[in-house]
Amino acid sequence: MSADCIFCKIAAGQIPSNSVYEDEDVIAFHDIRPLAKIHFLIVPKTHIETLNDCTAAHEALLGKMMVLAPTLAAGLGLTGYKTVMNVGREGGQEVFHIHLHVFGGGAISG
Ligand code: 5GP
Ligand code: ZN
Repeated sequence: MSADCIFCKIAAGQIPSNSVYEDEDVIAFHDIRPLAKIHFLIVPKTHIETLNDCTAAHEALLGKMMVLAPTLAAGLGLTGYKTVMNVGREGGQEVFHIHLHVFGGGAISG
C-alpha cells in the first residue's frame, strides 16, 4: 500500500466507494465522475503505478482484471462496452495506481 494513494485507500476500505466487486486480488467500483452511463474501474489491490511498471510477474493479475471485465459488465446488464487503461501522464493517467476503465450503456467514442 502506498500511503497517499487514493485507490490503495479504497482497496483498504479507508475511503468509501460504490463497489461492484471485490476479492483477495482486485476491487471494482463505480467511477466518481462517470464518463458514460455505466463507468466502473477494475483495480488491483496491490499498488502498481502504471502499466509500464508491469512485468511477466503481473501477467496473471492483468489477465484476471481483463477477464473480470465481461463478468462484471454482464452483472450490470452490459453485453457491449469499452475498456481503457490510461498509461502515464501523456496517456491521460491521473491516478497512479493501475486501473482498467469499463464504459458502457452509451459509451464514450474513440
Ligand atoms: P485515470 O485518468 O487515472 O485513468 O482515471 C482515474 C479515474 O479515477 C477518473 O475517471 C476519476 O474520476 C476516478 N477517481 C478519482 N478519484 C476517485 C475516487 O476517490 N473514487 C472513485 N470512485 N473514482 C475516482
Ligand atoms: Zn495505490
